[in-house]
Amino acid sequence: MSEFINVVDIFGENVFNDTVMQARLPKKVYRKLHEVIEEGQELDLETADVIAHEMKEWAIEKGATHYSHWFQPLTGVTAEKHDAFITAPMSSGKVLMSFSGRELIKGEPDASSFPSGGLRATFEARGYTAWDCTSPAFVRQDAAGATLCIPTAFCSYTGEALDQKTPLLRSMEAINDQSLRLLRLFGNTTSKRVTPQVGPEQEYFIVDRDKYLKRKDLIFTGRTLFGAMPPKGQEMDDHYFGAIRERIAAYMHDVNLELWRLGVSAKTQHNEVAPAQHELAPIYAKCNVAVDHNQLMMETLKKVAGRHGLQCLLHEKPFAGVNGSGKHNNWSLTTDDGINLLDPGETPHENVQFLLVLTCILKAIDRHSALMRASAADVGNDHRLGANEAPPAILSVYLGDQLGDVLNQLIRTGVATHSIEGEMLETGVKSIPDFMKDATDRNRTSPFAFTGNKFEFRMLGSQDSVAQPNVVLNTIVAEAFAEACEVLEQADDFELAVHDLIKKYAVDHQRIVFNGNGYSDEWKEEAKRRGLLNILSMVDAIPAYIAPESVAAFEKFGVFTKTELESRVEIEYEIYAKTINIEARAMINIASKQIIPAAVRSTAEIADSLSKVKNACQEADVSVQTELLTEMSALLAETKRALAKLWEAADGGSAMSGGREQAVYYRDVVKTAMDVLRSPVDRLEMIVDKELWPMPSYGDLIFEV
Ligand code: ADP
Ligand code: MG
Repeated sequence: MSEFINVVDIFGENVFNDTVMQARLPKKVYRKLHEVIEEGQELDLETADVIAHEMKEWAIEKGATHYSHWFQPLTGVTAEKHDAFITAPMSSGKVLMSFSGRELIKGEPDASSFPSGGLRATFEARGYTAWDCTSPAFVRQDAAGATLCIPTAFCSYTGEALDQKTPLLRSMEAINDQSLRLLRLFGNTTSKRVTPQVGPEQEYFIVDRDKYLKRKDLIFTGRTLFGAMPPKGQEMDDHYFGAIRERIAAYMHDVNLELWRLGVSAKTQHNEVAPAQHELAPIYAKCNVAVDHNQLMMETLKKVAGRHGLQCLLHEKPFAGVNGSGKHNNWSLTTDDGINLLDPGETPHENVQFLLVLTCILKAIDRHSALMRASAADVGNDHRLGANEAPPAILSVYLGDQLGDVLNQLIRTGVATHSIEGEMLETGVKSIPDFMKDATDRNRTSPFAFTGNKFEFRMLGSQDSVAQPNVVLNTIVAEAFAEACEVLEQADDFELAVHDLIKKYAVDHQRIVFNGNGYSDEWKEEAKRRGLLNILSMVDAIPAYIAPESVAAFEKFGVFTKTELESRVEIEYEIYAKTINIEARAMINIASKQIIPAAVRSTAEIADSLSKVKNACQEADVSVQTELLTEMSALLAETKRALAKLWEAADGGSAMSGGREQAVYYRDVVKTAMDVLRSPVDRLEMIVDKELWPMPSYGDLIFEV
């Protein structure tokens, strides 16, 4: 048994949070920082100096020797550069530990080593990290000792965003301004701030680390590039919500402790659909904090796995043939005084403000569905979206029975007069109390589903940052709010105008609402009739960033300039081509150096046995050996041919100069060549002696953790 730990005692112990600041900072400084955090005021250097000093003292008490600006460049992972607190030795030969306000608020990593999508060519290589004081600093303890990590935004010398954080903070400003504007129209004079709240549910796979280390494909690409299906997959549904095995439970316990210490409110954990697949969800938090915490969660899941002899796979599709991993982005808008703009109340048909918010969101999603799709695109996610897996690549909104009905009333008659109510759930068992059902069931197939008092965007990939989807969501909803406000602020009769506007939005954007089965082929047909997009690959999703309506929305609120968007598009194409290139090269490597030699050895063994048996007994039936030898040799030859083709294809790709053309080539030519190579190899795996096969099988990996 592990030692007893009281969660309340350890929660947030490594975070420079509000309680710590209140206790340690002089009153005046604490108040000033609060104004900065809550009202977006500027931080002066004098105040920053005091905060930096206290932060350093606190961190040193936790054992920290270094500090680091912790930021999220466009590589998909976090970046950090560690600096020790020590100053130059004094004449006495001793050093002091120091940390100034300037060091706290501004860092200067070399921007030239991070993706900039052409921004670098036109501007200086210099880049700055700037403290995001709305996300608390924390001390991270690991093998490297302890480090004070300061969440920061990362910009170029001329202020272009080079990271995920900067546009996210800008989009939060936009949604704040426009939400307040809308609330004021409804007579709310008291709310001071509206913040998007986000709760990302994280899926992941866990495999044994020793087995992982025998799979070069997992090591280099995060997913298996070869692998025959095991006799059993997920068809029995016996893993989902199943009892958690001891080894995994011990790992989860450790992950939770680590996250709680970092102030990440890890809450819900369970087994997922596929064998070896699990999920962890935190309690929702302010959008930018949630984005940071999701990064910490991914880092922690990986780091702690190593201590348990396990390996955490965050890739969207580590194994073909079983479910992949995604991330559900739960999103709502709440005021500083506790109002959730997405709460319909008991009788949504009477809640005019809610109906306006809801129909604005429908409008935003309908107009920007391609952009939403693009925000969830990453290379690994192409194996899920549009590939017969949850959810479909067509964006639609699930409202459920109750809201769907209210919307229909609005569309049909222009007024909504009633709301379907929840009923009693009768179990028929006396000892189980009956309880009220929700007015609405759930729909697991919808990419964007209303779930009670929030929307759940379910298209995200498991290893992707959740920043981009939230940047898009905040911005497009801000745009819809702004447009509604422009109409309503001019209206003579507010009641009448708001009613007309809700009806107009409901009618104009009803095509985006779909409550049925998103996996069905009928839906694909129906969606096409409705004119909804079905964008099957990342390469085709990327251009949405620079579509005129996207540029207009982003520029309207200063979230992205057109130049920044163009640079992001370049980076996305580059990431796509590079990722597929690495996968292709890994396949070439594994097939040449491991699989072909193993199969050759296997054929030699069979040939050997064949001649030995024949020598020993002329009449013996060697048809099995003969057949195996024929089949294996044929597959071997097929493998070699496919390998040569893939090599040629990959070389062709490497010779190209980048951009869309190269990405399209990798998708259409290189990926196809990869599939052609995989096929004979997976068939070989089924007939080659397991002892000779050079790597653990799917069965070994996902059933024997
Ligand atoms: P599910 O049944 O989909 O797992 P949960 O209630 O467990 O739903 O919530 C999933 C995630 O949604 C959690 O991270 C939770 O904190 C978050 N969440 C709950 N309410 C809200 C809200 N109002 N806004 C944003 N996220 C929320
Ligand atoms: Mg969910």
